[in-house]
Amino acid sequence: MTNDTYPYPNTPLILAVDDDPSTRKILRREMEREGYQVCEANDGKAALEMLATQTPDAILVDALMPEMDGFAFCETLHARGNSVPPVLMITSLDSEASAERAFAVGATDYITKPIRPVVLRHRVRRLLKEKAAALQLRSTLKRERELSELRSRIIDIVSHEFRTPLSVVLFSNSLLERYGSTWPENKCKIHYNRINAAIEQMEALLVDIALVGEADAGKLNFRPTRLDLVRCCCTIVERMQRMDDRGADIQWSSDRDRLEAVADEKLLRYIVTNLLSNAMKYSPQGSPIQVSLDCRDDRAIVAVRDRGIGIPMEDRSRLFEAFHRGSNAGALPGIGLGLAIAKRSMDLHGGEIAIESEVGSGTTFTAVFPLNLTVGDRATEDRRSPLKTA
Ligand code: ATP
Ligand code: MG
Repeated sequence: MTNDTYPYPNTPLILAVDDDPSTRKILRREMEREGYQVCEANDGKAALEMLATQTPDAILVDALMPEMDGFAFCETLHARGNSVPPVLMITSLDSEASAERAFAVGATDYITKPIRPVVLRHRVRRLLKEKAAALQLRSTLKRERELSELRSRIIDIVSHEFRTPLSVVLFSNSLLERYGSTWPENKCKIHYNRINAAIEQMEALLVDIALVGEADAGKLNFRPTRLDLVRCCCTIVERMQRMDDRGADIQWSSDRDRLEAVADEKLLRYIVTNLLSNAMKYSPQGSPIQVSLDCRDDRAIVAVRDRGIGIPMEDRSRLFEAFHRGSNAGALPGIGLGLAIAKRSMDLHGGEIAIESEVGSGTTFTAVFPLNLTVGDRATEDRRSPLKTA
């Protein structure tokens, strides 16, 4: 039998502990017959020492040994408190009392001597299966916990972040209802603009939340098509410059007029828009922001450089976690989803995002897209891993 009967990434490792070399020989032979790896120790103490360097998937231990017997070994193992592999106690005492004692000190199961190979192999197989099932259950529970944390964060954020734009809509709307007919057109316009901006803010929030939900379920739509990266990026920059009312100074450059690539246009737009809106949001009004697109070897490099507040070192490793915001973001608006979604979108393209930053001087985000993607490619295998939350 081979080990691929079991859901272990590597060949299972079995630790055989017995003071009698001929029994160890039998244990090794039977375990190797099953396709497992085997390491040996001649008493409980040596086995405990071995556990400092080896991580067996199951332990076969003789109950009676001179230096430290199987019962004491089992007790010590459990007292250490780390995750303990299943232990099969081998005893020559076929009595109720020794079985009782084996379970009392934490053995998972026991067999009696003389060893019957078929029973031994069957029991070990079962122990390994149970261990794998327990691990699987633990990782499912962990994932469930992460999902429920993400859900409650989303509910918190939605109820909090929607309140301000909603009250803007309600307030401006009630003023327009009451005074709209008597106000001059430009005064009404101010309120219509406020309502539109608040609606756009809520819509952007809903888009982010929908995307983060899709990303988390590994269902972020990835539909790569052949497109011109220069045109796409340039259009985004022009649009953001037009929409900005704080007088942002966005400088666009590219080392070519056209760059054909395969990418998902919607996700590409999301990545560049978020990097650029961050640069605008986290920089002083009117300070220059450079956006460039260059081609190096078989990669397209989009860099967004600002002279803003910068990102503290301790925040950098967590910026791609959903809802994590820099400690210096203060009251600047945002919920910490943009980079998490941008990162997941880059993963789907097989690309990456790098950060260079100095607090108080500015930040450069660099998104590197591989140019060897073909239509229909799914660049990343890791589509189902959950988004980490801060
Ligand atoms: P949103 O979900 O609306 O994008 P956000 O901008 O806070 O909210 P992210 O885009 O994910 O979220 O960015 C995460 C954090 O990274 C920000 O809160 C901010 O602290 C930091 N950050 C990102 N870009 C910059 C930048 N260019 N300069 C300084 N800090 C930045
Ligand atoms: Mg952002």
